[in-house]
Amino acid sequence: MLLIPCPWCGDRHETEFRYGGEAHIARPEKPADLSDTEWGDFLFMRTNTKGVFAERWYHSHGCRQWFNVLRHTVSHEILAVYKMGEKRPQLKKTEANS
Ligand SMILES: [Zn+2]
Repeated sequence: MLLIPCPWCGDRHETEFRYGGEAHIARPEKPADLSDTEWGDFLFMRTNTKGVFAERWYHSHGCRQWFNVLRHTVSHEILAVYKMGEKRPQLKKTEANS
């Protein structure tokens, strides 16, 4: 079980949330100018990080807000939570490597 700290509601069970994939994916400014390969890369190619990963979560059974989470993909430890539009928090070296 994952306990996710929603920035608005506090700690809630993971079943209240919907996973939104990798965070900080910028939509191309001129999608019509991209080749099919570039468009496909934007839509489908994501990093597969073993370690600290920035991901989006949606509190679908709560405040219905999107936010970002820094989670370690092996231990599932949540290292930071921050709102959309906020910069990714810098972690201490020990947190980033654990
Ligand atoms: Zn919430």
